[in-house]
Amino acid sequence: MIPYGRQDINQDDIDAVTAVLRSDFLTQGPVVPKFEDAVAKHVGAEYALAVNSATSALHIACLALGLGHGDHLWTTPISFVASSNCALYCGATVDFVDIDPRTYNICPVQLAAKLELAEKNGCLPKIVVVVHLCGQPCDLSTIYKLSLKYGFKIIEDASHAIGGKYKEAFIGSCQFSDITVFSFHPVKIITTAEGGMALTNNEDLAGKMDLLRSHGITRKQQEMTHLADGPWYYQQIDLGFNYRITDIQAALGLSQMARLDAYVSKRHQIANRYGDLLSDLPLTLPWQHEDSYSAYHLYVIRLKLDEINLTHRQVFEELRMRNIGVNLHYIPIHTQPYYARMGFDQRSYPEAERYYAEAISLPMFATLTETQQDDVAVALRETLLT
Ligand SMILES: *Cc1c(COP(=O)(O)O)cnc(C)c1O
Repeated sequence: MIPYGRQDINQDDIDAVTAVLRSDFLTQGPVVPKFEDAVAKHVGAEYALAVNSATSALHIACLALGLGHGDHLWTTPISFVASSNCALYCGATVDFVDIDPRTYNICPVQLAAKLELAEKNGCLPKIVVVVHLCGQPCDLSTIYKLSLKYGFKIIEDASHAIGGKYKEAFIGSCQFSDITVFSFHPVKIITTAEGGMALTNNEDLAGKMDLLRSHGITRKQQEMTHLADGPWYYQQIDLGFNYRITDIQAALGLSQMARLDAYVSKRHQIANRYGDLLSDLPLTLPWQHEDSYSAYHLYVIRLKLDEINLTHRQVFEELRMRNIGVNLHYIPIHTQPYYARMGFDQRSYPEAERYYAEAISLPMFATLTETQQDDVAVALRETLLT
């Protein structure tokens, strides 16, 4: 089976990880800050906080921005559930904004309309989590302008988008957001096995997230509110978590960072080649905004079902039968049983529903060979044209 995504591990990665295993510190050692510095420098952010997953990063990002009971967080229905679960962890409520039919990202026009209504009803969101689906950046400058008008904060869930650019600036530079979050799960662009990172240019937010990822405990004199009893003293000044990443994982991430740009440009080559191989089939291929440079985490095609004799599910199953590990990103979050129980109107997000009825993720990862890609294209052609 050709998977839809997979990691690339080379000898440098193995050497970096084993060096940590032979060292004094498996966690809370020197490699975590080195990894943070490397990512912060690369993307152009002031502060980077590595944690054990993007899910944890989203949670502490929401807390640092003050999200709590009675607050609202909005995001897109077409994302992984972590993009909205972060609100529920904080006791806030979630709502969704439908997607743009071309990019499949949160639609800025729908967002503007929903904000106008929410202002009248006195229920504006405190945070909007934008997701750069498939690695293609959202319309950040428009959403940023709306944030100034309506006073909400922006978190970029850039789990798909490290190495991508919006108007020449790397995703993670937080030019148009308060905090950006990356994921280093093995299917993502670079990996630490499990891992994530929160980036910001705001010192106060960085300090809060630093505390929250490690029990709310500090040893820094300037943060202490009580006098130290002695050199052993530490102080819990907030209720935090153990969301720390290990030095073993950070070593893998640091080693992978050296290949980030090469990975993303390889993903572009693969995407261009898919474009050539599939252009005559009854499909909608990924549309790319000229303003942005996608990280191409995913390559999502949409079936033109009225030109095909099979159903969406039949095409999906036929491809799996032919050992093509296709996937579907994502089931609209509001239709998940846990969310449906909250009473979301199932007809409020027609573009998301249409997307879900047609989308299939093809194999896309930096080490996908041309032969494998040809196999995908042939399987898809035979499936659709018979
Ligand atoms: C993978 C992913 C996450 C969660 O990442 P973890 O590191 O596994 O917690 C969140 N949001 C999106 C959009 C993702 O793709």
